[in-house]
Amino acid sequence: MSKYKLEYIWLDGKKPIPELRGKTQIKDFDKTPVLADLPLWGFDGSSTMQAEGSKSDCILKPVALYPDGARKAAFIVLCEVMHPDGTPHSTNMRATAPDDPDLWFGFEQEYFLYKDGRPLGFPEEGYPGPQGPYYCGVGYKYMGSIARTIVEEHLDLCLHAGINHEGINAEVAKGQWEFQIFGKGSHKAADDLWTARYLMARLCEKYEVDFQLYCKPIKGDWNGSGMHTNFSTRHLREVGGKEYLEALMKAFENNIAAHIEVYGPDNHLRLTGLHETQAIDKFSYGLSDRGASIRLPVNFIKNGYRGYLEDRRPNSEADPYQIVARILKTVNTVNEPSMVAA
Ligand code: ADP
Ligand code: MN
Ligand code: MN
Ligand code: MN
Repeated sequence: MSKYKLEYIWLDGKKPIPELRGKTQIKDFDKTPVLADLPLWGFDGSSTMQAEGSKSDCILKPVALYPDGARKAAFIVLCEVMHPDGTPHSTNMRATAPDDPDLWFGFEQEYFLYKDGRPLGFPEEGYPGPQGPYYCGVGYKYMGSIARTIVEEHLDLCLHAGINHEGINAEVAKGQWEFQIFGKGSHKAADDLWTARYLMARLCEKYEVDFQLYCKPIKGDWNGSGMHTNFSTRHLREVGGKEYLEALMKAFENNIAAHIEVYGPDNHLRLTGLHETQAIDKFSYGLSDRGASIRLPVNFIKNGYRGYLEDRRPNSEADPYQIVARILKTVNTVNEPSMVAA
């Protein structure tokens, strides 16, 4: 038998966007545990905006397991929050996205690293040099010294955890970065993204830095943070076609407000129609068009209107479970042509 540290993490009841919570359970196992070995656990929901004090117990149901490289003999246990009777809690948005193995997602998570209430590298008074050299930049004068240390350490933690990172880059504003995560199925990419957020927030503690997900932290000529959401269905990847795309885009256009509602708070500050965005109340799509709501990647039309689509509207703070559930809902309103024929 040996002891393992199991960090059960979950999403709390904060509105409109939940925050991460976590606590450790020590358990003995005679071999390395897998998800099915992990027991349900509980917590005091009255301290997380998820229950009244008189009926405070909420249940943690493990749904994904990640090796935790920051601790010895440790795992992160991503959980759904349930009622004691086994039904999903109203704050459990993962349970609202039906599992569909044919749906693939890629999230581009942009964020700032913050220290003393401002982005890393911003002087105490005033501003650093204007945007331009920071995007994918290199050198102390642009990047400072702590940011890349954190970013690299985070990348290693994520890879060790088995998170499907696809890449990282420094972003347009000073102190702003991005990582990309891809996953097959309704849940995998969103699970990985929440766990990657947890790893980053925890890692930053020792550097006295904050992981800033707010979408427009600095006013003026400084980029906001988005979370472009790339998605594809089996039909889009294998069949596609102009007619299907047009029907799908019409369905998105008919649901602008419903999408924006779950695409992150204060998104009007970011989706202005400037800085490679479409205005928040408009919908458009286009090939390689970074000013559109949805961008078709450069080869999409050449490949017979097949491939994935990039919804550029979700912001950095959005809950990926809610994005996935909403996209799935809209996609499911459109008949795939083979189904119409049948
Ligand atoms: P850009 O910054 O030009 O938009 P990135 O490389 O940052 O491009 O992001 C592209 C995203 O598209 C990645 O997150 C990747 O996982 C995702 N992606 C690629 N192919 C697919 C696909 N078939 N289905 C869903 N997402 C995909
Ligand atoms: Mn990107
Ligand atoms: Mn980006
Ligand atoms: Mn993008």
